[in-house]
Amino acid sequence: MIHFWKAGVVIIGNEILIGRVLDTNSQKVARALTMMGYEVLEIRKVKDDVDAIAKALKELLYEANVVVTTGGLGPTYDDVTAEALAYALGLPLEINQKARDMIERKVREMRLEMTKERLKMAVMPSTSKPIPNPVGVAPGIYIKFGNKKIFALPGVPAEAEAMLDYVISELENDSLLRRAEACERLENVREADIADIIRKVAKMYPDSYIKTHPGLEGNRPYVKVCVLASDESSEMAHRKAKNILNLIISEVMGA
Ligand code: ATP
Ligand code: MG
Repeated sequence: MIHFWKAGVVIIGNEILIGRVLDTNSQKVARALTMMGYEVLEIRKVKDDVDAIAKALKELLYEANVVVTTGGLGPTYDDVTAEALAYALGLPLEINQKARDMIERKVREMRLEMTKERLKMAVMPSTSKPIPNPVGVAPGIYIKFGNKKIFALPGVPAEAEAMLDYVISELENDSLLRRAEACERLENVREADIADIIRKVAKMYPDSYIKTHPGLEGNRPYVKVCVLASDESSEMAHRKAKNILNLIISEVMGA
């Protein structure tokens, strides 16, 4: 069996737990980590609370090589992610000069005032590297902690997404695997009719993940089959996924 590097995701925000906002960040983060060859062990959703964030972070770091968080980096009183990181890792909080410079530059560009609320976004655990925010003001936080890597991204989806490129570039040389997916919709097929074929093929390729998604169009059944495969490069992984998918299709045709 292939051994994937392990990752955890922590989604921070009361608005998610009260059901006002649908969490879309976890999907984007999990997808990016998966394609980089990581196995996402868990996605946790927690309140804007230092203890809750620190607990999730510590528990996930126990097994995961990488933890990515989103939310709670802003200027308001309920943004406590930096404090929670410091508490969980036993690092002091300090004004990060690089982060301060980034914020000051943004604030000048946007013709805003430098306030103590904005300065708060430069307060990070010692040893943090600020992650540039190409969309908003709050920098992300990157901490190397022993052999673990922690990335804290803002909650605003456009900002979190824009910073994923930074996360990916930092992880590029760690995981030597990449993943890719190939999907195909099989018409006039019911999931139960192909379950046996899927099981057989899945057994032949234990390192790949085959998932069937059944649906109905009018009264015609279909099944979308997706194969996620891994290899040294995205291109090789994609070829592998395609080959497995083609095998499934030919077996279904012949059945
Ligand atoms: P900022 O630095 O811009 O203040 P932040 O890190 O403080 O960002 P939050 O205050 O937690 O982030 O959230 C900012 C906005 O993004 C809110 O409108 C929130 O509802 C939305 N948001 C937060 N987390 C998520 C998520 N996981 N999925 C989708 N939207 C989210
Ligand atoms: Mg905020």
